[in-house]
Parts: sequence; structure tokens; C-alpha cells
Amino acid sequence: MTATAPTRAAYETVIGLEVHAQLLTRSKMFCGCATAFGAEPNTQVCPICLGMPGVLPVVNKRAVEFAVRLGLAVHATIAASSRFARKNYFYPDLPKGYQISQYELPICEGGWLDIGVEGGPKRIRLTRAHLEEDAGKNLHDLGDGASHVDLNRAGTPLLEIVSEPDLRSADEAVAYLKALRELVVYLGICDGNMEEGSFRCDANVSIRPAGSATLSTRVELKNINSFRYVKRAIEYEVERQIGVVEDGGRIVQETRLFDPQRGVSVTMRSKEAAHDYRYFPEPDLVPIAAPAAWIAEIRAALPELPEAKRARFAADYGLSAYDATVLTGSRALADYFEATLRHGAPPKTAANWIMGELLALLNAEGAEIDMCRVTPKSLAALFALIDAGTISGKIAKTVFEDMYRTGAEPDAVVAAKGLVQVSDAGELAAVIDQVIADSPKELAQYRAGKDKLFGHFVGQVMKRTQGKANPAKVNELLKARLEG
Ligand SMILES: [Zn+2]
Repeated sequence: MTATAPTRAAYETVIGLEVHAQLLTRSKMFCGCATAFGAEPNTQVCPICLGMPGVLPVVNKRAVEFAVRLGLAVHATIAASSRFARKNYFYPDLPKGYQISQYELPICEGGWLDIGVEGGPKRIRLTRAHLEEDAGKNLHDLGDGASHVDLNRAGTPLLEIVSEPDLRSADEAVAYLKALRELVVYLGICDGNMEEGSFRCDANVSIRPAGSATLSTRVELKNINSFRYVKRAIEYEVERQIGVVEDGGRIVQETRLFDPQRGVSVTMRSKEAAHDYRYFPEPDLVPIAAPAAWIAEIRAALPELPEAKRARFAADYGLSAYDATVLTGSRALADYFEATLRHGAPPKTAANWIMGELLALLNAEGAEIDMCRVTPKSLAALFALIDAGTISGKIAKTVFEDMYRTGAEPDAVVAAKGLVQVSDAGELAAVIDQVIADSPKELAQYRAGKDKLFGHFVGQVMKRTQGKANPAKVNELLKARLEG
């Protein structure tokens, strides 16, 4: 079912994403229960989130504040009055028989997010962002042949962020998700953890003849929780739709579930039947009227956002656009970089080491910067040792690996392992004489014009000094000796 390239080029892909970001509040959306992940099933519940009759929900003010924070960051309009609505459907993980969500009056409307794509930034319009509560979780595979329900997650606050159908490929969808995830983490409103499901998305995918301006029937791909699956699920769906249309078929509006193991999607339910949620305004909650002064307060307290930080890093520290992008990839990494500078590290050196050695070691063990044992202060101290000529850049890498493993200070590692650089001319000259005496063949060839053998001599000197010889000094002394 793989379409040929010309066939594929005859179609345009249209994608809109609905992202569910779990808000980082300590308590649930409408009750005081804890939201912590991983607790024993059904230990974080109360009559409100269990849906008992006669109880009344109370709005979590912090969740509203987080929604406003996102809204301001994406240039959305914060509604003067927004309202909760009941979304009615039956499912075992939803004890009330309805989910409290927002419908015709969401908290945030409009706005946009700029994403990085080939050929420059692209602006993706947002439709809305609204507050709602999560459902519980059905557990089917505990091995006892029964199905269970865990309601710890029931009532956890979610912000659903809906984009316009402005995305044109799986890669753009991934770029959008990465930018949005980065933003919510920067804003401190969501931990962005896709594995635990605190940042997940549904994708609405359709195809149309290239150049057409009308929207075709769309298919919804449900609950995708990794960047890789988003790409694979969308690419599979586009191929599938092209195949159906090319075979003279018609796309049916439906919800499909992507199976990453098999790499295919399967029909979950037909959208028509599921669409009637009989929304109506939630009678147990008054509308939210966020005061302008409070919104202004939230705006004033917004942290520096990724885009602004990138621009400042490039301008203030003379970094390339690429370096600035990598170093602002997370707020924690950007903070680490700037802390290193405050301890006297030169920006370019710090950027190279953090992006090179440090990220390589972190990535190798799948760790994050906040777990790093090398403090910004000791990293700056390592640079000072190189700068003072105490150790060479090459030895510094060995020292750094030790610091990374043990958290030791660089001067302690250098002292313990006897790694101080040898710059003493007398000491180096003795080694150089030995090397030359031991390489009569190479010496003859070098003097006969084979210049590149110079490297052989340098290598031998470094080897015999266990890499501790000052490379600049070695070059200088060796040149004088060989030419002499
Ligand atoms: Zn509760």
C-alpha cells in the first residue's frame, strides 16, 4: 500500500492536533485529592472525584492560573467569562457518567505558536485551550482475568490545546509538539512527561488534492504518547488515505488507534456515533471571570520564554543560532549554561563543552541535566585549569569524565591522578631526544621531505608522557629539534 512519489505529491496532508497537558497542580481540578503519579490504585480519591451523588465540585484556582499562563504565552485571548460544561458519555473509568470540560466558552481563544521547520519559522494558529478533568484508568492485564478501574487519575486537571489544521506533514506535527512541550515545561505548568501520559495528543488527519483549499473528511488518531509514534502514526494514516482514494474509495470519518508494535492503525469507533456528547453548561459551577488585575499579575510573572531566550543567548553570548537553540532546549539546561558563565567560564568554551562532552555523557545514560553531578562551578574551574596551562584540553576530557562519574572537583582529580601538564622545556626535550633516537627510519624520511611524519613524532611524545605534555610546547620544541 505504499504510494509512489508522484502519487503522493498529488495530495496535500492537513493535520490539526489536540494536545492534553496534565497541569502540575498538587490537587485535582475539582477536589483536594493529590495528583501524584504512581500511587497505589484508588488511594487518591474522595466522594467528589468518585462521582458520589450530592457532592459539589470546587474549581482549582491554580489550574485556572496555569491555563491563563499558557494563554498569555501563545498570544491567546483570555475570556472575560468562561464556563464549564458537562460532556456526557458512558465508560467504566468515568463514574459520574460525564466529564466536566469546557465547550462554547473556553478559557483561552485563538493565539499562535511559531515552530522551527526547514526554510524558517512557521506560524501555527491555535483554535482554543480549555480546562477539563481527566478520567480514571481501566486495567485489563493484571493476570486475574478481570478488569479493574483505578480512579487516582479521575479529576486530574488537563489543559486541552487545540490547533487549527495548519500542519502539512508528520515532521511539522512533531516540530509543533516539541515546541509546545518545551513551552509548557518552561512555563512550569506541565512536566511534559510523555511516558507517564502527562503530555499526549490526538491528531486529526486528512488529505486533499494538492492546491485545494477545502478540508476533506478527517480521521482522528487517538492518544499518541511519543514523538516517534506521532510521526509513524501520521505517515501511516496518510498512506492509508491515499490508498483508499486511489482505489476509488471514500474516507470515513472515524477514530483510529495506532498500534506501535504492528505499525498500523485500527478503527476504534465511528465518529458519527460518538459525537453526541449532549454538552450543557455545568450547573454545579459558576462561570469563571478572571479579573484583569490578576491576569496582569500572571503576565508580569511569566518566565523568559524559549524564543526570547534563544535570541538573547545569540546576541549576548555571540552564539550561533544552532548553539543557542540547543542550549535553550530546556529551561534547566539554559540555567546550567548561564550559571557556568556566572562562575567565570567563557561563553563559547562553556557552550562547546556542555553541548559536546556533557550532553554526550547525559544522553548515553538517558539522564537529564538536573541529575548531573558536575556543578556549573566545578565545570568553570575545569576551564580555568586549561586556561592556566595546568592541563591540556585533551587531559581535561579525562578529568571531566572522572568529575562526571564521581562529582569530584577538577583540581582534586588532577592531583590524585598526577595529570598536571608537562610544559618544562628540559623535561620535554629529554623525551623528544629519546623519541628521535628510537625512530631513525622516520627521521630520515622526514628530512627527505615527508612532512606528515611530524605527527608521528608528536604522537610518540604524547604517548610517552601519557598525554600530559603541553602540545603547543611539544610542537615548538620538536620543530626546532627536527629542523636543526
Ligand atoms: Zn477527590
